Amino acid sequence: MIKIKADACTGCGGCIDLCPSIAINMVNNKAVIDADLCTECKMCVKVCPVNIPCEQ
Ligand code: SF4
Ligand code: SF4
Repeated sequence: MIKIKADACTGCGGCIDLCPSIAINMVNNKAVIDADLCTECKMCVKVCPVNIPCEQ
């Protein structure tokens, strides 16, 4: 499953705009993935400027 490390996220919003499943929300300026909606396409991993989203 894909997760975002909140302590490293800059809140740029790039992954939110790109996620085809609309599975990412901004919470307290940090991106958070809804595991129920995520299809693990990994687009957010590719777009993140600091490569935060990762498989866990
Ligand atoms: S892996 Fe794909 S579906 Fe899941 S949060 Fe990232 S962009 Fe969205
Ligand atoms: S693209 Fe990366 S830094 Fe930007 S909001 Fe998403 S997880 Fe955070």
